[in-house]
Amino acid sequence: MTNKKYLGIITVSPVQSYIEQAEEVKDLYKGSKIISNIIQNIINKLKDKINVIYPNTEKIENITVNNIPNKIVFTIENGKFDKSTFKNIENNYLNEVINSNELVKEELKEILKLTYILVPYENEENYKEIYSKAVYYLDGIKKYTPIKQIEKNNELYNKKGTRSSNNCVICGERIATKLKSEGKYQLCEICNIKREYEVHDELNNISLSDYALYSNFEKKDIQDFKDSLKDKNKNNSNKFDIQCVFPETIDNLPKESKEQTFQKKCRNEFLDHMRKKGYEVKEDSELCRYYAMIMFDGDNMGKIISGNSSILKDEYRKGVNLKEFQKKLSKAQSEFGANVSTGILPYGNAVYSGGDDFLGFVGLKYLKEAIEQIEENHYTGINEKLSNYLNKNEKITKSYSIVIAHHKTPLKKVLRIGRESLALCKNREDSKDGMCITYITGSGNLNRVFLKNKNYKDIFKLIYHLNNGLSSKFITNLEVEFPKFFDMGNTSLTDVEYPKISQMTNYELKRLIGRSLSNLNNSDDKELIKMEIYTLLNNYIDKNSNNRKISIENLANLVYIADKLKKYYKEDDTNNNNNENQRGE
Ligand SMILES: [Zn+2]
Repeated sequence: MTNKKYLGIITVSPVQSYIEQAEEVKDLYKGSKIISNIIQNIINKLKDKINVIYPNTEKIENITVNNIPNKIVFTIENGKFDKSTFKNIENNYLNEVINSNELVKEELKEILKLTYILVPYENEENYKEIYSKAVYYLDGIKKYTPIKQIEKNNELYNKKGTRSSNNCVICGERIATKLKSEGKYQLCEICNIKREYEVHDELNNISLSDYALYSNFEKKDIQDFKDSLKDKNKNNSNKFDIQCVFPETIDNLPKESKEQTFQKKCRNEFLDHMRKKGYEVKEDSELCRYYAMIMFDGDNMGKIISGNSSILKDEYRKGVNLKEFQKKLSKAQSEFGANVSTGILPYGNAVYSGGDDFLGFVGLKYLKEAIEQIEENHYTGINEKLSNYLNKNEKITKSYSIVIAHHKTPLKKVLRIGRESLALCKNREDSKDGMCITYITGSGNLNRVFLKNKNYKDIFKLIYHLNNGLSSKFITNLEVEFPKFFDMGNTSLTDVEYPKISQMTNYELKRLIGRSLSNLNNSDDKELIKMEIYTLLNNYIDKNSNNRKISIENLANLVYIADKLKKYYKEDDTNNNNNENQRGE
């Protein structure tokens, strides 16, 4: 009998674009659940025949969210395997997960393609080379598999050249034949599967407006109200729409329609419910209309997993030790993923949280807490746990994209901007371990600030000062003053100008901060506070001595976003404990 083993990889892809084809936030949870079920189902079918390396299949406590990634890495060690098992999986991987006719299933198989590779090997010493080979082959298969003719040529699509006034609102490609609303079909068969997919009740009834309102009311109190309606309105065909807590939504409904009357009644009940719980809402303008979407993505994970990253100790970059590291990493990641998704539950939800990537939504008021929690868990759950495998002073890092958006801004747009910001963040000069916070205004303008993860508290320190005597006027003044002298950020300064203007910028920033602290009385304290704020903000002036450019754009956006967030952090005392929990460097 031969000693031959196989290393195998199975993927279902592309998952990100599939999940993010979403019109409502619940589409995301459902898409993610579908992927998770597909992978779980494949693992269950194969588990007696394979040794799974990735993802972690040990039971993890606290799992509340889909934290199964879209890839299975495994070995087969008994020297033989049955080809038909894999053929069978390839043919039937959707069967137990999705309930639909064959045409739809075939189409979905084209969208969520299953690809697998099995590479034979004999010697564990060659594990790394075999792993790299498998990844390489798999990428090749994915790239070069021709898209079957069936796609875009079947009855799910509009015939070429015909006008498409009835396209699906989610994918925009296929003919809408499902979910009639206002006399028009909204969804195609494929997207309807997602919309109808079963998820936890809470997620089935959630919308972006919920996340916005978490800044005013606690999630559990909103949940209580929704639960109370469920019993009361059992026989009612109308359904309370939480967007109608905002009066402008009600105003936009047909005047004195049944719907408008119903939503108005629900709104009053909602506010009564909250008053009884002790909340005070004096003005409608106090209702928060913005929420935060958090994405993060591990830096250079492909390199790390394949043993090609210099952060890994030499001995773990090869042979059976690499396999050991991969197993440890996948376990650490799934625990970390589970902890993060559970951690944000009191004020948000995770769409997926696999450990090396994350997508979730939180109330704006809890953004700081959410980042804090993720950073803490990442430190203890990943870097501390894996420290034996990493070289001294090295760590596994990730990049964030946080988008703050109005609850009425189309979700598709928010997701697209989130991805763009993440790419911008990863493409910056010192690209690892960074964060981009994007604020989308109601009218669609973008304000982006780039920070290093270890400095994320800077924005909350600035918010503290804005809530305690600092006026944001200084930045407007700086923005008005400087273009008079030179074209900031665009043209290069001369060798003589650069140091001069660089110094002048510092001086002016300091002076203007001082002026913006005018309502602070005690002059000793004032000088200290001025220097503290100046030191904090000076880092955000981009000075590039190579091409001699100076830009205050990042600084201006930092101040802009902090100013927008400040009303939700009135009681925050970031600045009083700013030396705690500083990790890394
Ligand atoms: Zn569709």
